[in-house]
Amino acid sequence: MKSPLLIFSILLLSVACQAQETPKDTATMKPKIEKTDSEWKAELAPDVYRIMREAGTERPFTGEYNLHFEDGSYRCGACNAVLFSSDAKFESHCGWPSFDKVADNDAIIEREDRSFGMVRTEVLCANCGGHLGHLFDDGPTETGMRYCINSLALDFESASDSTSTSSNSQEAK
Ligand SMILES: [Zn+2]
Repeated sequence: MKSPLLIFSILLLSVACQAQETPKDTATMKPKIEKTDSEWKAELAPDVYRIMREAGTERPFTGEYNLHFEDGSYRCGACNAVLFSSDAKFESHCGWPSFDKVADNDAIIEREDRSFGMVRTEVLCANCGGHLGHLFDDGPTETGMRYCINSLALDFESASDSTSTSSNSQEAK
């Protein structure tokens, strides 16, 4: 016969396990770069503008990086901030580039999106506020996360390119 204490400790243990991952509250974060719509319009290609500034979505299975699996990093298509590493990319069969984690926790902003009668988590670049895609918690890898990102919101930098160009990017204090 199980004692109430044993049942209680099992319960406590399972609650403790679930509480390991506390959701990140980034909804109050403000992008570092603030530009007007007309400034962005002048800077970005029309289809990139539609995705990144008007929260558009490219057609599935059409994006440049959907089935792209080279080593390197994926940068923001608007401001060039590093968002995802190729290590985090996986084939999700959903038609858009998918990642199971961000390169840096401060690289993106997550925001509740209630458009189209759905409750989803919108993913934005923390540096420029550009719309990237959505985050789902049905990922097949150990993080359980699926960052579903538009190719048009990304620029890929191959690992071999970055070693030769990163030497003069030091900041003077
Ligand atoms: Zn950006």
